Amino acid sequence: MTSAYKLAVAGIGKIARDQHFPAIAAQPGFELVACASRNASVDGVRNYADLDALLAAEPSLDAVSLCAPPQVRFAQARAALEAGKHVMLEKPPGASVSEVEALRDIAQTHGRTLFASWHSRAASAVEPARAWLASKEAGAVRAVEIRWKEDVRRWHPGQQWIWEPGGLGVFDPGINALSIVTRILPREIALRAATLTIPRDTATPIAAELDCIDTNGAPVRASFDWRHGPVEEWDIDVDTDGGRLSIREGGKRLSIAGEAVSLGLEREYPALYERFRELIERGESDVDVRPLRLVADAFLLGKHVETEPFGR
Ligand code: NAP
Repeated sequence: MTSAYKLAVAGIGKIARDQHFPAIAAQPGFELVACASRNASVDGVRNYADLDALLAAEPSLDAVSLCAPPQVRFAQARAALEAGKHVMLEKPPGASVSEVEALRDIAQTHGRTLFASWHSRAASAVEPARAWLASKEAGAVRAVEIRWKEDVRRWHPGQQWIWEPGGLGVFDPGINALSIVTRILPREIALRAATLTIPRDTATPIAAELDCIDTNGAPVRASFDWRHGPVEEWDIDVDTDGGRLSIREGGKRLSIAGEAVSLGLEREYPALYERFRELIERGESDVDVRPLRLVADAFLLGKHVETEPFGR
């Protein structure tokens, strides 16, 4: 086994500090050696104002983890892959589906690992939920209801990129729910209709309703809302012939047919870095665009409803 891979993180903001740095420090697979950020710097590592400068100055680097907003993901990922680095992408993996598909090709051409991470899939409820829904006990899925609602002013204070094209608006959290359902449901789902509620002063929605069906015809409905509070709702209910499966708190809690399921410790980001390392060792990539494709379909098919200005 190779010793720790030399890692750089680009885009030092909320998620890099809240989750990536503690996760990297807590496991032996990666050693953080450098960071690239226009305004921030990190103690104990080499700092650069942008990723191009970092890549030019750090030829022995093995891998890069990209934590800036999605609008700059493609340019940063392409530069890192072309410099011969393995790349891990924060969610969403890009601002468009086509750019993520292109990155997959670039990674293959350069023989490097591309890992499009979905942190909510590493929540502790997700794999037990997937396993139960795949079992005979669950029977057929009859209906799925997703409620993903929070207060944008609490969770995204001052962030402007979420309101710009490519920033996804309420789909920035909503895509986490879509990453879970596309992982746990035994069948593929297709978007049939959507309504996007868009403030007069933003380019992206503050709320969205999605109507999907699975390939068996079961309805899969999602309600995303950023005007909700003070207690957030990150819930998924799956009704089956064998009873209801409920995910609560974004994947921290699970109940099946009325019984609470005991879950392992919450360790989303350490699990993502372990997966990244495993993919590098195997010479593989992991790029599942289905959650982003559902969001893209909602922008493609969705009816737009204008609402009062957000007041950015
Ligand atoms: P953020 O704090 O607003 O942004 C991260 C950093 O990216 C910023 O501090 C900024 O650092 C850099 N950046 C911003 N705009 C840039 C640009 N145009 N070009 C280059 N760098 C830029 O956002 P975040 O909350 O960490 O989210 C970043 C990503 O992580 C998003 O895709 C988000 O969906 C995902 N994520 C966030 C959370 C969360 O709880 N916040 C949870 C899971 C995943 P400099 O100004 O120093 O360059």
